[in-house]
Amino acid sequence: MRIANLAGRLVLVEGERALDVETASAGAFGADPAAVFDRWAEFTAWADAVDVATAEGTAAFASADLGAPSPRPRQVIGVGLNYADHAAEAGLPIPEHPVVFTKFASSIAGPDISVRLPGDTVDWEAELVVVIGRGGRSIPIAEAWERIAGFTVGQDLSERTVQWQGTPAQFSMGKSFEGFAPIGPAIVSVDELADPDRLAVSTTIIGADGTETRVQDGSTAQLIFPVAELVSRLSETVELLPGDVIFTGTPPGVGAGMKPNRYLVAGETLVTEIEGLGRITQRLTA
Ligand code: ZN
Repeated sequence: MRIANLAGRLVLVEGERALDVETASAGAFGADPAAVFDRWAEFTAWADAVDVATAEGTAAFASADLGAPSPRPRQVIGVGLNYADHAAEAGLPIPEHPVVFTKFASSIAGPDISVRLPGDTVDWEAELVVVIGRGGRSIPIAEAWERIAGFTVGQDLSERTVQWQGTPAQFSMGKSFEGFAPIGPAIVSVDELADPDRLAVSTTIIGADGTETRVQDGSTAQLIFPVAELVSRLSETVELLPGDVIFTGTPPGVGAGMKPNRYLVAGETLVTEIEGLGRITQRLTA
């Protein structure tokens, strides 16, 4: 099952076509994409019986009309240094416990947007994003999969100068500018994925002249804390709420790890892709 936010309305998606949930369910489920996570079990039971391809009312859509599939999460959790090679390029040790920060929820944005660069040291971080369904506290690893709604693609955009400002550094501010948490295009339930613990993750930068450069090329098989363990460990401290969003960390290949450092400039386009989940696109402006 794939769900998305099409012009502010909850839809089921298959390929290039979408089905409006409120209409197709005769009002049993509302149009608000943020409200569905509170009724996740009920919703998936209904949605699993719908054949989007043949349902009456299914229509083509434009990706520019997609919003964030979880548009108003109460918590947006970021995990740092969750790939060994990325910890190495950052010159930091491999963590024994998840390194956690927040991206403030107002930074959440849709999958196909323009982002204004607030400084000269904005960096990219392609990330698998987990969206919470039922959630809860003290979730055992064995139950973690059934507490999540699914996966989506995210970019943990990071203004490095602001991120490292002060002692100790304040990660959350540098990662919370407008448009710095784009997610989408859809939330994909894990049963759609052959191996949800092994998904290719990449970032490509398209220059103003059209030149494409693949800068990140990793796999979630390399996560130090894989999804189920991460959900379990986070829930030991934080109650995970329906619709919450977890950025699970980035593979190597960020601009701050390059010598010399390489940051985003206006006119470039960032394309982030994850196997089985799709891609998101950010056009960078001054
Ligand atoms: Zn990150």
